[in-house]
Amino acid sequence: MFNKILIANRGDVALRVLRACKEMGIPSVIVHSTADADSMPVRLADESVCIGPPSSAESYLNVPSILAAAGITGADAVHPGVGFLSENADFAEIVKAHGLTFIGPETRHIRSMGDKVEAKITAANAGLPLVPGSPGAVHTIAEAKKLGKTIGYPLLVKAASGGGGRGMKVAETAADLAEAFSSARSEAKAAFGDDTVYLERYLGQPRHIEVQVIADSHGNVVHLGERECSVQRRHQKLFEEAPSPALSADQRADIGRIAAEATRKMGYLGVGTMEFLYEDGEFFFIEMNTRLQVEHPITEEITGVDLVREQISIAAGEKLSFAQEDVTFTGHAIECRINAEHPETFMPTPGKVTAFHAAGGPGVRVESCLYSGYSVPPYYDSLIAKLVVYGDDRAHCLARLKRAIEEFVVEPIPTTLALHARLVEADAIIDGSYNIRWLEEKFLASD
Ligand code: ADP
Repeated sequence: MFNKILIANRGDVALRVLRACKEMGIPSVIVHSTADADSMPVRLADESVCIGPPSSAESYLNVPSILAAAGITGADAVHPGVGFLSENADFAEIVKAHGLTFIGPETRHIRSMGDKVEAKITAANAGLPLVPGSPGAVHTIAEAKKLGKTIGYPLLVKAASGGGGRGMKVAETAADLAEAFSSARSEAKAAFGDDTVYLERYLGQPRHIEVQVIADSHGNVVHLGERECSVQRRHQKLFEEAPSPALSADQRADIGRIAAEATRKMGYLGVGTMEFLYEDGEFFFIEMNTRLQVEHPITEEITGVDLVREQISIAAGEKLSFAQEDVTFTGHAIECRINAEHPETFMPTPGKVTAFHAAGGPGVRVESCLYSGYSVPPYYDSLIAKLVVYGDDRAHCLARLKRAIEEFVVEPIPTTLALHARLVEADAIIDGSYNIRWLEEKFLASD
């Protein structure tokens, strides 16, 4: 096992990893920017090292500073958390070149899944069903037009290096293609420094369903079922649940088996998530995230597996502590992402939190770095808390969630808690009939 883990992240994911380290008896180091000197992970850390000023480029993305912190503190492994450098293959390689363990998959998998064109080819070779689309990158508008005729419209132009829903444009008809193609390319160039794009059929009313996989270095691969993440705004998830209200036990077992089989074929190591769109009973692979997901707690709640603990053990060369036949799905779990954003305009609302009270009681888990007197900095992601609720079944879980939201206090900054209070009353949430278009096109549009 590791002697000391450096946690190269901030916020609630840094806290999540810190908690796992403590429970495993592994000393840890938190690196932080000057803006986070008073943060909860720093306060709770065994050791902390300031690695730079507030801007992420100079702190959480500052590779030389992170490596220097590892050297000074004698850490022998780096946990990248979620976001920042977690899916940066060059960072993983540099960490390894310095004799440290990168707690994540092998570099080749991060690289191949980071390029969505390559990811789709890898996925197809591993036996996963794809959204119909271009066989690879598309370089010219003439080529796009030709492919458009066979793929059909509406058509989605997507950035190969895309992420966070950026670099994605819909062409409703062939007449819109030139505009969608050039604007996707320029957005991709500006956001990712790479204007490579590809084409996919634009599915009308799909659900976003993802499968959690985990693999050790001894050839054991297990899936931990799915998460339903269709409640999205601008392709950003806001509310996730497990299991999906749309799947039967047989469908769950089928897609889980397919995802685990693909993971095995790829020779993948560690935790990963295969994201699919699901429409009319069919699954279509869209991408694989080669890291822990923000919404991992809901899987933990219904399976009883500690994903971060397993992730750390696997990285240290140990075997998975359970086999596929040991995995059971019990009850229902929902996660609400509480963001420091205005619940109607979604404008960021950083600032001082003078009153904070986390919901509690049976089945309630709060992952948050907030405390009364904490100032939410304006420099980073707006996620400030994850409210995770478990119930015996979906109705029980929703009832608990409603009362947990009522208990939860974050003042005076506006947050998405107010949106969640309305969501739990919505018919499409109560009956589970929503899809990826519902929040924006129905729920928010009716405001
Ligand atoms: P990113 O990495 O930017 O998040 P994804 O490929 O994971 O991009 O897609 C993000 C979201 O965009 C999906 O959850 C879905 O809502 C939408 N989306 C992606 N591909 C398609 C498609 N072919 N048809 C319809 N919607 C799509």
